[in-house]
Amino acid sequence: MKVAKFGGSSLASAEQVQKVVNIIKEDTERRFVVVSAPGKRFKEDIKVTDLLISLHEAIVQQKNSQALLDEIYQRYEEIGATFQVEPDILAKIKQNLVQLTEQQAPFTPYFYDRVLASGENNNALLIAGVFKSQGLKARYISPAELGILVSEEPQNAQILSESYGKIYTWHNSSEILVIPGFFGMTTSGEICTFSRGGSDITGAIVAAGVKAELYENFTDVDGIYVANPSYVHKPVLMTELTYREMRELAYSGFGVFHEEALMPSYKAKIPVVIKNTNNPSAPGTRITNNRSSNEQAVVGIASDEGFSMIYISKYLMNREVGFTLRVLKIFEEFNLNYEHMPSGIDDISIIIRARQLNPELEEALLRKIAYEIDPDELRITHDLSMVVVVGEGMKHRVGITADSTAALARKQINLEMINQGSSEVSIMFGIHKEQEKLAIRTLYYTFFD
Ligand code: ASP
Repeated sequence: MKVAKFGGSSLASAEQVQKVVNIIKEDTERRFVVVSAPGKRFKEDIKVTDLLISLHEAIVQQKNSQALLDEIYQRYEEIGATFQVEPDILAKIKQNLVQLTEQQAPFTPYFYDRVLASGENNNALLIAGVFKSQGLKARYISPAELGILVSEEPQNAQILSESYGKIYTWHNSSEILVIPGFFGMTTSGEICTFSRGGSDITGAIVAAGVKAELYENFTDVDGIYVANPSYVHKPVLMTELTYREMRELAYSGFGVFHEEALMPSYKAKIPVVIKNTNNPSAPGTRITNNRSSNEQAVVGIASDEGFSMIYISKYLMNREVGFTLRVLKIFEEFNLNYEHMPSGIDDISIIIRARQLNPELEEALLRKIAYEIDPDELRITHDLSMVVVVGEGMKHRVGITADSTAALARKQINLEMINQGSSEVSIMFGIHKEQEKLAIRTLYYTFFD
């Protein structure tokens, strides 16, 4: 059996929901349906989750929230009316929203999660109703009833391993189960969401729990492109990727599939396919443990901006026992996560997400490094982008780095850093953010044209 997850744009309007109904009707193996909250119907539209963020703010600041509540309810009502769902369903959705606005202070961090999770929860109620009205044997099931238990980390829940056994008990359900994505229940009974975009994670958890043969992730693109289509004109579509390749790409800005959603599917060895609700007959991109063909050395080129690099150099650094440890201890003291740490004989660069820094913290960090490490040279570079060339086939092919650097050099792109792990799944280049697009295009045409 299959688990099908539909993203917000697949559920944004009655027209889109009709496509979802058709997809479910087309294949009786689609037994578990995970839904996001309604997304954007057109470019300037606002996702229900974003409206809920505003609703939360209005409630907490004790402002009038009626207009927002109406706007959110309208999104469900429009779809419900088209499919003539049972009136109780819309009444229930309205009641759920009103209940949120009646919440009194003090507001715990879980209240934010409860408000946001209502986007998915109400949508699962609605879609189950739509399925029924369209003659499908379906029902809504809450994450708590299904067995999705999560850690007590508001907005960043992690699945608890005992969930999988509980979810498995539903694997034979005679009804299609419609499950809200994005959240689970803590053991103390609080609703707690995954990080943003987390309905993908729910889908992966359900697929692993029920031991599905396939996890289908329906979105609004035909699959995963080799490079960002807004940087490269009509890039090639990947038909198959490995989990490791996808992990590298997801980390480096490929937003199509949530990076945390890979783990449950990977561990349970369930293939994932990214498909397009608007073009369901297209094969999509499959993510599996092993790619059947490793002929293609490079499978994707991704990039992400917003990095800063701290460069430390000290003559004979390689002879100093515990040098790196002392540097990293300072980062720990400042509660800073590092992303990459390429090093030379006498130098080391520590790359971090710039959003962790502010001018005071940066000043204090550099002062501390200067004092404790006494480097010959110490500097920080901001506005860096990481461009990554990904492909498991790279380890069997000589010259990928050479081809990449030669192409980048021809375009006068200065490399601040090069990093390649010994797993040889990716090569990463740190460059200035103004050159990011050019670098992506250059690398794309080097390997795909
Ligand atoms: N609706 C949530 C969000 O916008 C979760 C999701 O769509 O996956 O982040």
